[in-house]
Amino acid sequence: MLVLFLACTAGSTPASSTPDADTAPDTGAAERFDVIVVGSGPAGIAAAWAASEAGAEVLLLERADFGGPGLRHAGLLYGAVTPWHEEAGVVDTLAAATADWAGTTGVDPADNGAAAYIAASAATLERAAAHGLPLFPPTPTDNDTINRLHPVAWPPDADRFATLTAGLDAELRLGTEVTGPLLEAGRVVGVTARTAGAAADHELRAGAVILATGGFLRQLDAVAEVRPDLAALDLLFETSPYSEGLALPFLVQVGAGREQPEQIGTYFHSVRDPRFEGAEALVLNHTETFILVGGDGVRFADDTMLGDYSTVAEAPAGDIWLVTGGQVATDLTFSPPGYNLADLAVPETYTVADLAAWGSPDVAQADELTELAELTGLTALPATVDAFNQMAADTTVDAFGRLIEPRAALTGPPWLALRLRAGLAKNFGGVRTDLASRVLTPQGEAVPGLYAAGEVAGMVPGGGSGAGFNGSASACWYGGFVAGETAAAEAPAE
Ligand SMILES: Cc1cc2nc3c(=O)[nH]c(=O)nc-3n(C[C@H](O)[C@H](O)[C@H](O)COP(=O)(O)OP(=O)(O)OC[C@H]3O[C@@H](n4cnc5c(N)ncnc54)[C@H](O)[C@@H]3O)c2cc1C
Repeated sequence: MLVLFLACTAGSTPASSTPDADTAPDTGAAERFDVIVVGSGPAGIAAAWAASEAGAEVLLLERADFGGPGLRHAGLLYGAVTPWHEEAGVVDTLAAATADWAGTTGVDPADNGAAAYIAASAATLERAAAHGLPLFPPTPTDNDTINRLHPVAWPPDADRFATLTAGLDAELRLGTEVTGPLLEAGRVVGVTARTAGAAADHELRAGAVILATGGFLRQLDAVAEVRPDLAALDLLFETSPYSEGLALPFLVQVGAGREQPEQIGTYFHSVRDPRFEGAEALVLNHTETFILVGGDGVRFADDTMLGDYSTVAEAPAGDIWLVTGGQVATDLTFSPPGYNLADLAVPETYTVADLAAWGSPDVAQADELTELAELTGLTALPATVDAFNQMAADTTVDAFGRLIEPRAALTGPPWLALRLRAGLAKNFGGVRTDLASRVLTPQGEAVPGLYAAGEVAGMVPGGGSGAGFNGSASACWYGGFVAGETAAAEAPAE
């Protein structure tokens, strides 16, 4: 049974203005648990389940004042050879899934933990579903590829976190932020934590600590350190507001190694949400009839690469415009973060007219292409559209290898140009772990007492995901289950 404690902020005593008093741990008798899980997203929930099912006394800590903020997002979960495939009449094999892996992710499954993950992915989804995750069969494809992305569809008024933790034998403390490790003789023996409104940190001891704190992409300094190439771009946040990398200093203190932290998932398919001062993204929903041009109005890549990572590298000066026209332009929609969910208290989609009404600098519309070119500075645009439409009329394979069919032709008015920006979406690298989710030093030694799962660990235990990986929340569930089992087995008794 889940026991819930919510730190109360209203009417609490203000924090002392003395810095020492603010940061000094409360040295009163510390509570002790077998396993402390930090973070209540998919990885943390899975870890708590696995550890408690293995008989451990578990404490689950979450700094937000509600459980599982990350559950608002993941809408598609990867699984190979699943019962849902069988239900949909799709014949999949592990061999086919393994063979497809490199093409989908750019990573050789033999190099790292991917092979173990692929093999366990069906069991992972079944286990998550058994704990209440509402999964459905993947949509069949109209060619010979196999869709392994299983949609999650919550009922509109579902309390996701309550559903997924119903029956979980653990104690949950919301509004409690872990501020650092407790170290004794090189072993992690617990954490320091701060409850909202408290004047000081307090100590919580444990036989094992599992970090499931999510990604670090909202910490732009950390992003710039590992990916200086992204600094030139006008970046947007497509991550959860809780992806703040709060575990990074913690990992430095325990001497943890990093595993390809530069593997960051960026997508070029968003415009800035003009209603916010910050760099929040509105994601363009799928459309097929458009071209992509650089700041000079010239096509520079296969337009169907929209959203693909390679486009970032190919974009001239990082400036990409999507150009389309006619009914397609009128019908375009955008979704806010959490876009794949139906039950957020915000409209599911917005239109170009909404963006224009909010004064978006990323939208330009005109009745004539020449006028659009003048408005945007995309000088070559009229000639580019003419040439593209000619290739469409002739059903041509262009210089980028794209087969342009007649139905791809652009028509207007109206003509529309949208400036797309790179969205920081996911960490595919992070803290270094082994296949059993133990945190490792740069030399490959396990840090005793410390485990990590989910985005903080680059998704798959052992670092086996790789850029381009879709359905990554299933890797977070998988890593959480593995971390919970390992931590429960290795946590020393008091
Ligand atoms: C808009 C959007 C759409 C997405 N769509 C998909 C999709 O379709 N498919 C897919 O697979 N994935 C998708 N993702 C990604 C997926 O949601 C994340 O990869 C996943 O939630 C990560 O899980 P996690 O458990 O590692 O971390 P999170 O879900 O981010 O959870 C980490 C938790 O740790 C807490 N925390 C952090 N630091 C501390 C601390 N110091 N003390 C206490 N608590 C702390 C945070 O508050 C947070 O609740 C999407 C993400 C977004 C933003």
